[in-house]
Amino acid sequence: MTEPLLKVEGLKKYFPIKAGILGRVKNYVKAVDDISFAVQQGETLGIVGESGCGKSTTGRMLMRLLEPTAGKVFFDGQELTQLSNDEMRKARRDIQMVFQDPYASLNPRHTIEKILMEPLNVHNIGDPKERKKKVHEFLEIVGLSSYHAKRYPHQFSGGQRQRIGIARALMTNPKLIIADEPVSALDVSIQAQVLNLMQDLQQELKLTYIFIAHDLGVVRHISDRVGVMYLGQMAELADSEALYEKPLHPYTQALLSAVPVPDPEFLREEMLVAGDIPSPANPPSGCRFHTRCPFKMAICETTVPIFAEVEKGHSVACHLYEESRPQ
Ligand code: SF4
Repeated sequence: MTEPLLKVEGLKKYFPIKAGILGRVKNYVKAVDDISFAVQQGETLGIVGESGCGKSTTGRMLMRLLEPTAGKVFFDGQELTQLSNDEMRKARRDIQMVFQDPYASLNPRHTIEKILMEPLNVHNIGDPKERKKKVHEFLEIVGLSSYHAKRYPHQFSGGQRQRIGIARALMTNPKLIIADEPVSALDVSIQAQVLNLMQDLQQELKLTYIFIAHDLGVVRHISDRVGVMYLGQMAELADSEALYEKPLHPYTQALLSAVPVPDPEFLREEMLVAGDIPSPANPPSGCRFHTRCPFKMAICETTVPIFAEVEKGHSVACHLYEESRPQ
């Protein structure tokens, strides 16, 4: 296998909780706690989990919009975590982000032309005439028209605004796009259009995606592989087909049982998990899912399960599969 485009090793993000007038650090919110994965060129990796599981923090750390507490991120032969601020600014030309709420991320006082030109100005790409041409070209590519360039964000629908957000991410010809819940704020009917657009763009422009979502249903068709996160850790990571057909981790099984399926013959029995997601400032001992897991055993409360491959390309962190692991 070729060298992955992105490789993440032991990534952690701990946010300090301060208390008292002196602001002493009393504890940490372990938003991301030791995750590792790799993404191949041209692949889409879906990252899924409930809110607070650390998926968006992970996305932001990959671009160093948030500094990791520990761990390494390798991208296209460079160790991003070692770059100076200036070098990182340059590297961001190749890694772009699409956000959940396109309205909040588009400056309401700027025309679409100005918004789309900004990344070209920042990275000093082309002269003013070329930049203008590129804006018009990318508006067409994302299914809008040149005449939209002079309009303002509020004059567009939610779906159109997300198309603008996607166009902005594409302006610098990036290699990797990190899409953080890009369709969660959209109506279901519009979600499919935006997902189809992203898939078409991936093929045409040879893009690599990290697609973050809270819903396994949304990432199913766009992802080659899917990672499921729970309380800052990776619970399971597998090829999309394997994960949906044969989920191993009880948490993945519970998430999947809640995804509606169009054919009632294949209805899964809904698996309910007890209780709320615990606080990442005070995660449960042993397996972090043990407070909600219907298959909990004595060992689960005391011993952290190792995240390891149990079948080819299928990794899981759960004591139920201890024996299936290669020794
Ligand atoms: Fe459930 Fe134990 Fe597996 Fe955790 S390790 S998911 S508690 S069976």
